[in-house]
Amino acid sequence: MIDTKTLIQQLNEPQREAVTHPESPLLVLAGAGSGKTRVLVHRIAWMAAVNSMSLHSILAVTFTNKAAAEMRSRVESLLSQSTRGLWIGTFHGIAHRLLRLHHNDAQLPEAFQVLDTDDQVRLVKRIIKDLRLDDKQWPARQTTWFINSHKEEGRRAVAIPAHDDFTLTQKRIYEHYESQCQRSGLVDFPELLLRTLELLKENPELAEQYHRRFQHVLVDEFQDTNDIQYQLIRALVPHQGITVVGDDDQSIYGWRGARIENLNQFTQDYHPAKTIRLEQNYRSTSTVLRAANAVIANNLDRLGKELWTSGEAGEPIVHYHAFNEIEEARYVAESLREYHERDLTFNDMAVLYRSNAQSRVLEEALIRERIPYRIYGGLRFFERAEIKDALCYLRLIFNRNDDAAFERVINTPARGIGEKTLAIIREFALKQELSLWQAVTQLLTTTELSGRAKSGFSQFVAMINEMEQVANQSLLHQLVEHAIHDSGIFRMYQEKEKGEKWLSRKENLEELINAAREFDELAEEEEAMSPLASFLSHAALESGDTQAEAEEECVQLMTLHSAKGLEFPVVFMVGMEEKLFPHQMSLDEPGGLEEERRLCYVGITRAMQFLTLTNAEKRRLHGKEVHASLSRFVREIPDDLIKPIRITRSWHGAQQASYQQASPSQSARSAGAFQIGQNVSHPKFGQGILIDFEGEGDTARLQINFEQAGIKWLIRSYVELG
Ligand code: ATP
Ligand code: MG
Repeated sequence: MIDTKTLIQQLNEPQREAVTHPESPLLVLAGAGSGKTRVLVHRIAWMAAVNSMSLHSILAVTFTNKAAAEMRSRVESLLSQSTRGLWIGTFHGIAHRLLRLHHNDAQLPEAFQVLDTDDQVRLVKRIIKDLRLDDKQWPARQTTWFINSHKEEGRRAVAIPAHDDFTLTQKRIYEHYESQCQRSGLVDFPELLLRTLELLKENPELAEQYHRRFQHVLVDEFQDTNDIQYQLIRALVPHQGITVVGDDDQSIYGWRGARIENLNQFTQDYHPAKTIRLEQNYRSTSTVLRAANAVIANNLDRLGKELWTSGEAGEPIVHYHAFNEIEEARYVAESLREYHERDLTFNDMAVLYRSNAQSRVLEEALIRERIPYRIYGGLRFFERAEIKDALCYLRLIFNRNDDAAFERVINTPARGIGEKTLAIIREFALKQELSLWQAVTQLLTTTELSGRAKSGFSQFVAMINEMEQVANQSLLHQLVEHAIHDSGIFRMYQEKEKGEKWLSRKENLEELINAAREFDELAEEEEAMSPLASFLSHAALESGDTQAEAEEECVQLMTLHSAKGLEFPVVFMVGMEEKLFPHQMSLDEPGGLEEERRLCYVGITRAMQFLTLTNAEKRRLHGKEVHASLSRFVREIPDDLIKPIRITRSWHGAQQASYQQASPSQSARSAGAFQIGQNVSHPKFGQGILIDFEGEGDTARLQINFEQAGIKWLIRSYVELG
């Protein structure tokens, strides 16, 4: 039996109060790094060990699959026992599980399949085509957004009021999409939640069964729950057994419908709810924490929390001001190397950026420096072309009516089935309300198809049917291996691609077989799911990159959004520029800037010991070169916490560049004073000497005598002062 003392020994007073709070509604409202997630883990263990609650009666909701896995392993190590029966997962994961267990009540076929975002857009695109709408006027992504936001507010197509042509058409696409999904047994991400909500509402007995089962439900990152997620919580927990933890300052998914208001709603709906505040931060140095507090203080309408640390001041925050994104990336790579030489492992380091497109240049610099890295939540293993091809074969074996899968592989590899023939099939399916597979099998018995098309289709149908035989007789990994080869995709890539590219496809396909092997081993543990079903669901729901998981230690690259809840000794926040961060788009929306600032707060508070902020004066992004000024967020950090670093050599000598600390007056932040006679360099005009200037700061105009190009007036931010 576990020593219950150890469960509370490693906690401070308010944390202890939260962990041991009776099984009545509890809200832990606290800033970053104050131990909210830790409280949840200990509370689960406490309820199991001290209150003798069965793990079977506890449900914990996390924000990512990775967080769920981490939470499970922490509970396991606290209790020194297996956590079988304990449900921990994301909202989507839990909803998915409930739908699998009760697919009949949810009016879904047993073999329903989860549609990932990419597939969803493809399907919407096809429906727009089927409806003979102009896909330029009706971009599929925009309509997908329309559908998803309505679903996230619990609204089916019929319930949408439509008074104008625009909404009417979007609504019509939504209706067709709904019936197409129903016919094909496909469920997109927001549908997982909506379906589950309807399942519980329409089946009171079933709901009752879960109310009895889940005596206590715990939710992490509560500030980012959206409308439907909150409704789902209400439907699952009508009683008092609920704990939620959150931080209003870290609400960063408003653009996706998250509602900070849920924090207030919670205290009204679960009455009387105890609110506990945690104020001690255990994660960061006081320098990092002061910077975070200073930035977030610029937001109004906060619930107001104090955060302090007894930790050391630590090192100042480094601010590196680069000429352009390439040089910025090189600085990051070289600094990562230096930290590594200071005895930190690459696993301890993270590079965070606002926009996914920033990663490419960083990756190139890391590759050049031979620094191992992985992109977290970015380029997903299960989203790679060869993996999706293979998975779509598996999906068809599992569910012939999965139109999205059918569309992807019917001509991959090529089987001589042309666009025209496919159009006939689609048309027929649409008219008869059939899935594409059903349409093909029916049309095969008529004379409507050409001989060539017929033979292509017959072979395809026979092949999938044969694969099903294999599925029935073998283990999952054997089936995956069979499907990869028999479908011809292995050969297709082998013939189409060479060298590294082919090698990586091959390795990925082999990795897929490996991943399937794990599911064979897990098979006995899962309730009510075949290994194929759980493997396919895993593929659709998984956000991590499984391949890199097993690799050597590496630096993590990720967007600021996906860094939520994580911590690293060394953090780089790159691209600290106006219009990039805060993002241009957010500046036009009400509340947008505040949400960006919260995102900045999330970023800063990921750092435990060392934080570096970088910006580039000039950046090529999305094919355009832009000049950018320093992000206001950097300016909001008190000067005394920052160590400005700048390059000492010119652009051209960049290869041997060395970095040195600049005095504040020299730094980019206060670069107002210029010295006549100063060396200047410019990427195009080369070296020159400053001979006059007007104004100050980044917008000053400088007159420069270039060695080659002669005298020119240029804006300060276009040149580098030596
Ligand atoms: P975030 O808001 O970023 O999700 P959080 O409030 O969930 O942060 P945790 O991740 O739970 O914070 O904790 C932050 C760090 O502080 C972790 O490394 C955790 O182990 C440590 N920590 C929390 N409480 C204590 C404590 N009482 N004693 C020692 N370390 C602690
Ligand atoms: Mg947390």
